Amino acid sequence: MTKKNRETQAGWNLENTYLQLPDTLYTCLNPTPVPTPRLVIFNHNLAVSLGLDAHALSGNDGAAIFSGNHLPEGAQPLAQAYAGHQFGHFTILGDGRAHLLGEQITPSGDRFDIQLKGSGQTPYSRRGDGRAALGPMLREYIISEAMWGLGIPTTRSLAVVTTGESVIRETILAGAILTRVAASHLRVGTFEYVARRRTSEELRILADYTIQRHYPSAASSDNPYLKLLQEVIKRQADLIARWQQAGFIHGVMNTDNMALSGETIDYGPCAFMDTYNPNTVFSSIDHQGRYAYGNQPYMAAWNLSRFAETLLPLLHPEISQAVRLAQDAVSEFSPLYERHWLNGMLAKLGIFNCEEEDKSLINELLKMMQENEADYTNTFVALTFEKNLDTALNGKTEFQQWLEKWQARRERQTQSKNESQQLMQAKNPAIIPRNHQVEAALEAAVEKDDYSVTHRFLAALENPYAHCPEQAEYAVPPAPSGIPYRTFCGT
Ligand code: AMP
Ligand code: MG
Repeated sequence: MTKKNRETQAGWNLENTYLQLPDTLYTCLNPTPVPTPRLVIFNHNLAVSLGLDAHALSGNDGAAIFSGNHLPEGAQPLAQAYAGHQFGHFTILGDGRAHLLGEQITPSGDRFDIQLKGSGQTPYSRRGDGRAALGPMLREYIISEAMWGLGIPTTRSLAVVTTGESVIRETILAGAILTRVAASHLRVGTFEYVARRRTSEELRILADYTIQRHYPSAASSDNPYLKLLQEVIKRQADLIARWQQAGFIHGVMNTDNMALSGETIDYGPCAFMDTYNPNTVFSSIDHQGRYAYGNQPYMAAWNLSRFAETLLPLLHPEISQAVRLAQDAVSEFSPLYERHWLNGMLAKLGIFNCEEEDKSLINELLKMMQENEADYTNTFVALTFEKNLDTALNGKTEFQQWLEKWQARRERQTQSKNESQQLMQAKNPAIIPRNHQVEAALEAAVEKDDYSVTHRFLAALENPYAHCPEQAEYAVPPAPSGIPYRTFCGT
């Protein structure tokens, strides 16, 4: 077997069903080759679960594939077209620096998009160079894998290669390509793109494809397109509640960055909150705080309204009826989200069922956390292990009273204290990818070519609910600083 065969065969089992869609939705083209690809990080476990030969792909052969220099067997690369509301404004977009290689069919029969990001210009690049820098691609790798560890639906990261080319941003940076694995790259923006073209036939084909790929049981419903809308809303309600429970701030919840699969997608300026404050914004471009932590549920509902609008021609032949169906479906988001949020927050407090007063019990705690600038993650860990000395709330009379109320509430349930504590341990992570730790990992990798910090960090993030001694160093909040943490759009 020649060298080329080895890496192209390596367990690839690609299909290209996206090519069945109207060709206005994509452009077929190959990645632009890079001079000296080097594989700097590779997700061995993910490769195995995809049915790939991790050994064959973990060196130079992997570098050739994950840079786009060699195509895996069965790949038919394309860049997807889509639109999106960016900070509220409609724009025509598309993969400006990404190539979908195909859909890998795993040994268990699941289908995952394999996409290169930073792999060269496409017709949708606008003024962009089609490339990506090493720091942001590693950042996506670390945070998406941390989300996976936390049990939050997410796209995943299979590999990062450096390209040997520089990219010019504010400074000159090392170029890199990320391999992203996703249930699909269908976005709210994909539907907005087709809806703009006003061809119901294309819309129906796209909706049928989405149903087949993500919501197959909707096909047998009385109104499959309404069911699609309702199911997308359900998944988003669950997803956003999980973000809120973990203190995750996406940072750029534009409609092109909302996946119809219900996975978190597009890790640009995202970051986790340290001290609890609903107004937290990290993104340097989010001047109005549109995508602040506390706004995320509202922004999700806004995006889902845009999705619902695209589906109107399919919902009902009479527009007034279609609008009513869409409005009813979207209005379900808020109660669904509330329910997920409440149940999730109660589990973080070791409470199994929901009583009338429970919402205020949670809100009282959050209010105290905000007023005292308590660390969000560590407060819940302190409650889990009854180490109240470890929280900024320690010694406050108000907090003492709250603790008594909470303990009385736990005692009222049929489950034992031990069961309650186990629930808390399973729902309150010991660690999250804190900004200062992410920066430290990136600095070692980018400045010193030292990936050991990243590897150790990723190992600790793999099971954030382990509460093991190796995680202790990552649980330390950043030293107080007068300068707020800022993230940039991940380019
Ligand atoms: P994002 O904010 O990451 O969702 O990106 C918004 C759009 O800009 C997407 O369509 C990207 O493909 C495109 N884009 C971002 N960076 C580049 C780049 N360097 N070259 C070309 N297109 C880009
Ligand atoms: Mg995007």
